Amino acid sequence: MFSSRSAHVRGMEIGGKAPVRIQTMYDRPFGVESVDDILRRIASLSSMGCDLIRFSFASKNDAPFFSEIASRSPIPVVADIHFDYRMAILAIESGADKIRINPGNIGAEWKTREIVKAALDHGTAIRIGLNSGSLPSGEGGIPSRMVSSALGYIDLFESMGFDNTVVSLKSSDGDETAEAARLFAGKSGYPQHIGVTEAGDSVISAVRSTWALGRLLSSGIGDTIRISMTGSIEDEVAAAAELLRVTGLSEKGVRIVSCPRCGRHTFDTMGFLRENRGRLLALDKNITVAIMGCLVNGPGEAGYADYAITGYGDKVYIYRKGSLVMKTSAEDAASALFEVIDDE
Ligand code: SF4
Repeated sequence: MFSSRSAHVRGMEIGGKAPVRIQTMYDRPFGVESVDDILRRIASLSSMGCDLIRFSFASKNDAPFFSEIASRSPIPVVADIHFDYRMAILAIESGADKIRINPGNIGAEWKTREIVKAALDHGTAIRIGLNSGSLPSGEGGIPSRMVSSALGYIDLFESMGFDNTVVSLKSSDGDETAEAARLFAGKSGYPQHIGVTEAGDSVISAVRSTWALGRLLSSGIGDTIRISMTGSIEDEVAAAAELLRVTGLSEKGVRIVSCPRCGRHTFDTMGFLRENRGRLLALDKNITVAIMGCLVNGPGEAGYADYAITGYGDKVYIYRKGSLVMKTSAEDAASALFEVIDDE
């Protein structure tokens, strides 16, 4: 189902029949690390499934950093703008593939018009990003007020001949977010970025976001997603990729099975995953990998997984398609597992 219209961000289609795209937002200001370090992290996020990366663009000092990142990033780069229309124009001129604005905090309408003109000139997409916390007062509940505001801004954009638009209507309340997205989908075919904002730490956010976004995605609403969390952006991307997998919207990447550990464990599954999850998720393979703590369920899960690793006394056993292929130590477990996977 999904949106009837689509937007284009550096050649990447959002909406229409395109796959649901995963986004996150960079978690540090410019200037505290080198551009090369930022690009290395973007490459790693991209390998885990991240499709777009957004940066806060708060002052003209950000322009040189942003410009270099936008020109070298392997994935489209989005500038997040608040209050100052001149920053939006500068971000567009600095190579932003998309900008995210809330026209409600940009001020007078002519300022938003200036932004739209610049976006038209440069082929830049715009996300109209509205949050429940910064809505003007008015009639109706928060979801319907967000939808009315978004439709008003879309009319303004269209009156200028601009339709390379994505819309997001976010609340920290999952039900409000879902209702706003549903209402909007019933009135407009523009693609939607969906996410629960200010959703709490990794655990709380994963639950809230899955509850709200899972139902939307299952009913065909949502063209890009972010699992916003007070946690690492790597966790955001991993959670979003897993949500797309469990809702059947993506078959890409590695499906991880792991046991919770109990008093029987002789292999530290938690430590292993903490160290190696990013590397596993970055494998460009559609496989299941089981990480198990002992023999109670280890060999059984190995029978269902493409690859499995499990504790056995002071040793670690590695299986391929249910057959034991290697016996090693806990210290060498990671290198042994990746060697077996890479061998295939
Ligand atoms: S596989 Fe072993 S360590 Fe893991 S939860 Fe089951 S019994 Fe406990």
